[in-house]
Amino acid sequence: MRNQSTILNYIDNAWQESVTSNLLDVTNPATGEVLSRVPLSPSEEVNAAAATATTAFEAWRRTPPVERIQYLFKLKNLLEENIDDIAKTITLECGKTLSEAKGEMRRAIENVEVACGIPTLMQGTNLEDIATGIDEFMIRQPIGVCAVIAPFNFPGMITFWFLPYAIACGNTYIVKPSEKVPLTMQKIFRLLEQTGLPQGVVNLVNGGQETVNTILEHPDIQAISFVGSTPTAKAVYAKAAAHGKRVQCQGGAKNPLIILPDADPEFTVNATADSAFGCAGQRCLAASLAIAVGGARNWFPRAISDIATDRIVGNGLDENVQMGPVITPESKKRIEGLIQNGIDAGARVLVDGRFPKIQGGDNGNFIRPTVLSELEPQGEIAKTEIFGPVLGLIHVDNIDAAISLINSGKYGNMACLFTSNGRSARKFRYEAHIGNIGINIGVAAPMAFFPFSGWKDSFFGDLHGQSWDAVDFFTQKKVVVERWN
Ligand code: NAD
Repeated sequence: MRNQSTILNYIDNAWQESVTSNLLDVTNPATGEVLSRVPLSPSEEVNAAAATATTAFEAWRRTPPVERIQYLFKLKNLLEENIDDIAKTITLECGKTLSEAKGEMRRAIENVEVACGIPTLMQGTNLEDIATGIDEFMIRQPIGVCAVIAPFNFPGMITFWFLPYAIACGNTYIVKPSEKVPLTMQKIFRLLEQTGLPQGVVNLVNGGQETVNTILEHPDIQAISFVGSTPTAKAVYAKAAAHGKRVQCQGGAKNPLIILPDADPEFTVNATADSAFGCAGQRCLAASLAIAVGGARNWFPRAISDIATDRIVGNGLDENVQMGPVITPESKKRIEGLIQNGIDAGARVLVDGRFPKIQGGDNGNFIRPTVLSELEPQGEIAKTEIFGPVLGLIHVDNIDAAISLINSGKYGNMACLFTSNGRSARKFRYEAHIGNIGINIGVAAPMAFFPFSGWKDSFFGDLHGQSWDAVDFFTQKKVVVERWN
């Protein structure tokens, strides 16, 4: 017998129970309570979603852009009205605090707002008289059925880096959420349903690896957006490309911050703590390495240790809590193991967050903020994505050494600099081989009207999510040369 809270698919504008008996528990990471069960949907359910999306495409692409965006205006209002309820669901299944969950949904809504500009954003270009009496046009047309494969750490926001632009451009869509956090999309698809979008324009298929593989191999799915860990991103990129698809894959990260001696200490330490310990370090833009330059080593390590020690950790539903749990017991174990490896390799423990006593949190996946100092610059803890509330400290003598340390890393998602010197700031911005740069910012998250960048092993593809890049990704350019004698 299935209980009533089994996660459903949404295919052809109907809520459907998967035929599979292969179900996983969806667990609250703060309490260990089972919230629901998620199906690992088999190929036939992906096929059904692709079929209805293919049928829907013909009429949807002919719907004028000004009409298509009316559904997005409705969606924006519905998201605003339901933001508290969605945020609570994010906290329940993902563990982040309520204010972090609300912040995530604000970013989602901003992408809907930007995509409402499609009648302008999607315009082509033209030039009269490329030769006498001959004109040339570039027209953007939608590409067909597109799909997103999303990670666990932003159950609401990440789908919105893609979906609003895809459908506003006239494509139809399939969402495959992370099987660890499928509840948020159940809520969001109830709202998409209320917008009255035509049959088959948006579809939701829950599942894991087999579900993803069917999407990647499906002949009627034209484009794939993936966000997740680097090994999966690489594999998805290769498979989707081998099946002739347009593909963009955002991967993992190891984000460094450089602290120059002329940085404002109080501001820098607060921004670093929010970046490293916010969302329990489970952000692709979380700082996980702080490089103190020269005299910054005299004040930074002690100040960041004090703030890490004071962080209030617990259930994200509690308003006083500043940091929630990590996603699974396996994740907690992996993070604790990495901390131990760092200590064994000679790192000095300034704050050890392992095995904390959290009131009411005996069954939760809690780790407190951890600070390790004197890391070996090329060692595991300085190079591996930890994806937990662990900040490593390294000291170097000058900004050149700091930038070359950053550029030696394999990831290129984000790097930030704290300074009061414009020349240092420019040098860093110019020389860092990194996609998202922050100057006196701890989390350099691009707004919806800029692309969400990422270089090196943090991104595979050329066009990123959000803004103009999303419009380029979700349209193909047709060029017309025209003469009327
Ligand atoms: P993950 O790679 O484990 O899973 C991501 C998605 O891929 C899920 O939907 C999952 O079902 C699917 N998947 C997992 N293994 C697969 C396989 N072998 N074949 C096919 N599909 C598979 O990632 P996660 O743990 O959910 O998310 C955390 C990771 O995502 C971190 O590395 C983080 O840095 C990264 N991330 C990156 C960005 C970015 O913008 N670059 C944003 C958010 C998260």
